[in-house]
Amino acid sequence: VITLAIESSCDETSAAILKNGREVLSNIISTQIETHKKFGGVVPEVASRKHIESIDEVVQEALDTANMDFKDIDHIAVTYGPGLAGALLVGLSHAKALAYTLDIPLVGVNHIEGHVSANYIEHRDLKPPFITLIVSGGHTHLVEVKDYGVYEILGRTRDDASGEAFDKIARAMGLGYPGGPIIDRLAKLGNKYAIEFPRAHMDEEYDFSFSGLKSAVLNYLNAKKMKNEEIIVEDVAASFQEAVVEVLSSKAIKAALDKNYKTIALAGGVACNSSLREKITEMAKEHGIEIKYPPLVLCTDNAAMIGCAGYYSYINGRRDDMSLNAVPGLKIGQK
Ligand code: ATP
Ligand code: MG
Ligand code: FE
Repeated sequence: VITLAIESSCDETSAAILKNGREVLSNIISTQIETHKKFGGVVPEVASRKHIESIDEVVQEALDTANMDFKDIDHIAVTYGPGLAGALLVGLSHAKALAYTLDIPLVGVNHIEGHVSANYIEHRDLKPPFITLIVSGGHTHLVEVKDYGVYEILGRTRDDASGEAFDKIARAMGLGYPGGPIIDRLAKLGNKYAIEFPRAHMDEEYDFSFSGLKSAVLNYLNAKKMKNEEIIVEDVAASFQEAVVEVLSSKAIKAALDKNYKTIALAGGVACNSSLREKITEMAKEHGIEIKYPPLVLCTDNAAMIGCAGYYSYINGRRDDMSLNAVPGLKIGQK
């Protein structure tokens, strides 16, 4: 089965070709980061326009790289939510037009389920059930993957997503956008024990909260500025990151132990974080739990992960028609 996948939920226009769901023949990603940088975050209207400008070219490049023609495609997989409405509509309309013209099935894909599926591409032997820790720009979820496309949410963030916290802290320190990779890099040069930031463990055992930590960092920065004291950016980055990583790691491992799982798969952009990868792997080892994560390029937004999730939906019989609409607030597990 050959899948053509399209992703445009945020600020990456991407198209990919996959064979039998897990073999990536091409994965073209056109990122708009440079455009949005000057605004310090993604500007939705600008994102939509940029998607329109590049989608045709990105799809063609995906075909060319895979050495394929439209006639070789068996079905289309496309992100229909969650994400920015205008951005989603560009990829979705393009996918619908292609499916209609080529007269092949259209399969709508949940972007977050795509992030989880990135693990299937990298780990060819990975099969459900397992626990997944989804840590992306807009979501933070602890989920049981019971089967392909079958998810049970154990916990979620009550406020900010983990990636959002990285981006906001970086912004407050004037470090640029997106904040995650910058904080990751600076943290390596800092002391993670320098500042004791709060860890929200909460009573709801699998839920997360990052707004208290965010406020604590902002208060720390403001107090330093008021007193005209030097801010050691590397130490703030390292101490903040440690607080995030510690809570994410311990809760994910607790869930695996409680529910008797031997595998935790990390998903989403924050799964790029070097400290998270290291710390959770180290903590999990003591309990005989294995940590899996995709390579960097499959952690952040890309169409290959959408194609993988779409392939499993396709073989499980999902078919969408021209009435498929963008669902900006689509939840994981929601059809
Ligand atoms: P969502 O998938 O929830 O709709 P999104 O698509 O915008 O949101 P992703 O593509 O999953 O988010 O990831 C982007 C996020 O990942 C950003 O918040 C970015 O700061 C963060 N990120 C990327 N690399 C790292 C890193 N090395 N450390 C921490 N965070 C990172
Ligand atoms: Mg992005
Ligand atoms: Fe994403």
